Amino acid sequence: MCFKRAAGRALLLAVLSPLLAACAPFHGRTEAYSQSFFAMDTYMTFTVYDDDAEDARAALRRAQDEIEELEALWSVTDQDSDIYAVNHSGGRSVTVRDKTAELLSFALKMARETDGALEPTLYPVLTAWGFTTDENRIPSGDQLAGLLEKTGFDRVVLEGNSVTLQDGMMLDLGAVGKGYAGDRAQQCLREQGINSALLDIGGNIQAVGTKPDGSDWKLGLRSPFGEGIFGTLQVSDKAVVTSGNYERYFIGEDGVRYGHIVDPRTGYPVDNGLASVTVIAEEGKLCDALSTALFVMGTEDAAAYWRIHQEEQPFDMILVTESREVYVTENVKDRFNLQDKYRDMSIYQIALSEKQE
Ligand code: ADP
Ligand code: MG
Repeated sequence: MCFKRAAGRALLLAVLSPLLAACAPFHGRTEAYSQSFFAMDTYMTFTVYDDDAEDARAALRRAQDEIEELEALWSVTDQDSDIYAVNHSGGRSVTVRDKTAELLSFALKMARETDGALEPTLYPVLTAWGFTTDENRIPSGDQLAGLLEKTGFDRVVLEGNSVTLQDGMMLDLGAVGKGYAGDRAQQCLREQGINSALLDIGGNIQAVGTKPDGSDWKLGLRSPFGEGIFGTLQVSDKAVVTSGNYERYFIGEDGVRYGHIVDPRTGYPVDNGLASVTVIAEEGKLCDALSTALFVMGTEDAAAYWRIHQEEQPFDMILVTESREVYVTENVKDRFNLQDKYRDMSIYQIALSEKQE
């Protein structure tokens, strides 16, 4: 639960500001307050800017509570979670909490829109690779073919809060959950009067408002080749989410690198020449769903998807290929800069009209 702090605080401050200015000693300086914790299988650091230490710490505490509540709903391993109940229902209908129904409904919508590149029912395949337990192995082609028959977002029945999966099917909302959690944390902070904050959710960034001085946040984008920060991006009030197969992967006995994002058509880890996909949009859940799906699609289909959808569902993206090319959508190009050390990377613009590229 996210409780509201001092409703109408912003308004109150606006009314009282001439008074407050006159009593400067009671009016603290805006400072940064941070809190780090481990949740949803990753490290999170929330930094809020506020002029009251107690308010800032209380807001941070509540945002963390919100994340922990969502983790308890969506964990695939916690036997009390909604997702665990659905995954072990043996084909019976299960009633899930509102937030789970909302996330599942969004994941199914994005699965439809991305033509199944985002596949919320991939859990049996991910388990066969050991991505869910970190005990990695290479499944046989036959095993994967059998498991793929147990997947398919179009076979999930969601009616209100009731979820029905066919026996043997299982959900994993890991590709969208952290994005949604970031949106909820942001909302929680806003409700408590925080207007400037930076949320790092295991590398997903949620930039709340602007920096306290009103300027854009300048974010460092990590190189998918493990060489620190290759570029910077200036944003305000945006989520910035990256997917790639460079963070969670294993090297098989065959010497091949197997990443944790799987192509739902084949059951094998994505290997299409893309190294990472960063998506920038207002909502974290859209960024998270798209970063995974566009990574599965590959450069050309991702560009085509952007051209078709960016108007009704605004987003921008930065694609990095294994051959060190960087493709940025035209709206983001003035906000993105390569670091000097990475000038060897070539930058291309993805334009709305294909000819301009
Ligand atoms: P992360 O959450 O690790 O930062 P993503 O948002 O891209 O990265 O989600 C990847 C996770 O989603 C994987 O670890 C796996 O659990 C799951 N997954 C892998 N491939 C797919 C896919 N095609 N569709 C939906 N979920 C996937
Ligand atoms: Mg994702």
